[in-house]
Amino acid sequence: MMTHAAYDCDVLVIGGGIVGLSTAYAITRAAPGTRVTVLEKEGGPARHQTGRNSGVIHSGIYYRPGSLKARYALRGSAELVDFCAEHGIAHAVTGKLIVATERSELPRLHALVQRGREHGLPVRELGPAQITAYEPQVRGLAAIRVGTTGVCDFRAVAARLADVVEAAGGTVRYGSEVTAIDRRPWGVAVRTAGGPVVRARVLVNCAGLHSDRVARLAGDEPGVRIVPFRGEYYELARPELVRGLVYPVPDPAFPFLGVHLTRGVDGSVHVGPNAVPALAREGYGWPVVRPAELLSTLSWPGSWRIARRHWRYGAGEVHRSLSRRAFTLAVRRLLPAVREEDLRPSPAGVRAQAVLRDGTLVDDFLIREGPHTVHVLNAPSPAATASLPIGREVARRALRRARETGWRPPAVESGHCV
Ligand SMILES: Cc1cc2nc3c(=O)[nH]c(=O)nc-3n(C[C@H](O)[C@H](O)[C@H](O)COP(=O)(O)OP(=O)(O)OC[C@H]3O[C@@H](n4cnc5c(N)ncnc54)[C@H](O)[C@@H]3O)c2cc1C
Repeated sequence: MMTHAAYDCDVLVIGGGIVGLSTAYAITRAAPGTRVTVLEKEGGPARHQTGRNSGVIHSGIYYRPGSLKARYALRGSAELVDFCAEHGIAHAVTGKLIVATERSELPRLHALVQRGREHGLPVRELGPAQITAYEPQVRGLAAIRVGTTGVCDFRAVAARLADVVEAAGGTVRYGSEVTAIDRRPWGVAVRTAGGPVVRARVLVNCAGLHSDRVARLAGDEPGVRIVPFRGEYYELARPELVRGLVYPVPDPAFPFLGVHLTRGVDGSVHVGPNAVPALAREGYGWPVVRPAELLSTLSWPGSWRIARRHWRYGAGEVHRSLSRRAFTLAVRRLLPAVREEDLRPSPAGVRAQAVLRDGTLVDDFLIREGPHTVHVLNAPSPAATASLPIGREVARRALRRARETGWRPPAVESGHCV
């Protein structure tokens, strides 16, 4: 067994997105003095999913009772609002409308009302006149209003988490891409591009779009592959058309699909996202192609099974990606007044969706463990909303693993890690 001093840190977190930073934050809270280091390959926090999302604090209404998504979103949304208030981060609890525009959607809308009530959420049913009272330009047959949905600045949340971790004695290192992981009987030795080797008792993988790759670097077969789906947005040139958050009734097969309208904390209104296959894990536009990453996606049998099952749906999404006219027509279902020239391209995001070998899209959050490792393998929406409870769960597992190496919670703060 190694001596305590021979480790550079107790827990090493890969990924400075909101999940990795929440995990480090939770460790500093649960066991002050534990030496925690976050390695992030970019020059700052939240450069990928966390900084390129819709900015919505989800209520949890969509998720199956008992699922991790439901439990963590219900708890996490309230905790996130408190965190933003405590740290002076821009946020607002605005409520949101979920609007049915076709009769065939009404049973699913009704089912959502039941689910919302099961979750104890404040849900109100609205008719067409009440919809226009909230959103004068939105048209629908019926809608529900969920009172606890909100918006916040997730980049600012991530940056604040990093500050708090450092203030508590942790280390957050940017520009530190992990390129090799060597598992030893005493823990892990991690190499960064051009940097030193870091020895830790436990490795926590919160690498988002690269989480399956990082698991394999550590020698753990994740059983899933990340298939990247790009979500493209437009910004509304006439933001006055939308007052708050307006969503369509979700399709149970693709709950993350369906163009919605979101007024952010800065008052701008985003329209989107759609979902098209990305040709690189960080492929924020069609021209970004990384052949090795594309090959790795295509060599996973699950990718082909998704394509075979859902090609019709996918073709529609690609069409709307390539044609602003087609996208505008889709938006008009909810917002008839929108014109093609109202939609200005806005930065895209890429979702890290874990897919099983048989083509099943992993629906719930997925956390797996190996010797000295904890891997967050599926943290799609609403993981930003749910990040504080997710971070606590990952931290709990990491500290349990650390105990196996002889680590004990420090009695006093033991100073900074590497
Ligand atoms: C288009 C879109 C819209 C969304 N909308 C919402 C929403 O409104 N509300 C909500 O709650 N959720 C939303 N989500 C989901 C949410 O943004 C994600 O679930 C969440 O940000 C995941 O955080 P993360 O830390 O796991 O991943 P990320 O934010 O992607 O962070 C992973 C980090 O790991 C780093 N990394 C990767 N590999 C390495 C390596 N080898 N070495 C070092 N660092 C590495 C990356 O650079 C990155 O910074 C949305 C997502 C997308 C894509």
